[in-house]
Amino acid sequence: MNRKGLSEKDVLSILDKARSKDTSYDKVLSAMCTTPHPVAVKAHMRFIQSNLGDFGLFQGTKELEEKVISLMGGLLGDPHACGYITTGGTESNIQALRTARNLSGKRRPNMIVPSSAHFSFDKVADLLDIEVRKADLDAEFKVDIGSVESLMDDNTAAIVGIAGSTEFGQIDPIDELAELANSHDIFLHVDAAFGGFVVPFLDTKYDFDFSVRGVSSITSDPHKMGLSTIPAGGLLFREEACLLPLEIDTPYLTIRKQHSLTGTRSGAAVAAAYAVITHLGKEGYKKIVDRCMKMTHRLVNEVQEFGITPLIDPVMNIVALDVPDLDDVRKRLRSRGWFTSITRSPRAMRLVIMPHLTEIALTHFISDLKDCLRD
Ligand code: PLP
Repeated sequence: MNRKGLSEKDVLSILDKARSKDTSYDKVLSAMCTTPHPVAVKAHMRFIQSNLGDFGLFQGTKELEEKVISLMGGLLGDPHACGYITTGGTESNIQALRTARNLSGKRRPNMIVPSSAHFSFDKVADLLDIEVRKADLDAEFKVDIGSVESLMDDNTAAIVGIAGSTEFGQIDPIDELAELANSHDIFLHVDAAFGGFVVPFLDTKYDFDFSVRGVSSITSDPHKMGLSTIPAGGLLFREEACLLPLEIDTPYLTIRKQHSLTGTRSGAAVAAAYAVITHLGKEGYKKIVDRCMKMTHRLVNEVQEFGITPLIDPVMNIVALDVPDLDDVRKRLRSRGWFTSITRSPRAMRLVIMPHLTEIALTHFISDLKDCLRD
């Protein structure tokens, strides 16, 4: 560490230089986060000192968190859901499965996840010592119920369904998973980290949330399509009792108990989530999702004109395109500034149409993709 402190001007200039190396979102079609809404940024700055790890000191922020959970619960089929704002989808998935494992009381627990599950479930398996069993997908990349059933046994502590899979943007048949969960009295977790702020606003209605009897917990992230600041994930449980396995005594804080995985945690992210959710309201999110979906359909229609097809009709604002010479084409696109991504199996070009993408940028991308196929 430098002995003498640098002037604020010098520090800020170093920061500006570092920031100039970061990618602006303009040409990013691979990310699930986006530029946060300005009202979220303002709220974040106002609560920058707030630590919900010791919420006895931050009662106002704690009340905001309760309101955010109730608002998100309302959007996800149960305004009485309980939970807390996590650091993101990974923490929410870890904590949901920790609850499931502890409630199950199984000595050698396993969980069944779709093979399309986010890699956070591999972290869950390692951290919680739960065996992860990956169920096959059907032709539309939804989890195959028969495969889930065949992987279940007496040690199954949880089943996971996804509402908005990372690679395909597909929604698993949550109602059928719930039937399995109900008939075997097993915990069902829905990972809607991405879809939590998309699916409720789609024109097609899906049964994916607490309105389905048997859904025990849901991950839904304000810092993805919720347009809030990082780090803001949401973990919601149907039953208050699900928080008990996460409870830890905190003798030297102003509070007696904590349920979060992290100790110190951002009150700023909670204030930001509250601000953007109440500012946009259902109408605001609907407009954003409608715009992303319109652009997604435009992309798919226009690339089909030069022979590129999607693996499935897009369900949400994520598309997987069957592109020949995928690696080369992606490299060429990269040299033109575009960030694209891939699906694992089958390998395809994965594109996420986030709110930061403009119609003009999309026009350029489609034309660059066409050129890059020919190069
Ligand atoms: N679950 C799903 C479906 C995701 O798409 C992601 C991230 O892309 C996560 C979980 C992990 O979220 P985070 O990166 O916020 O931890």
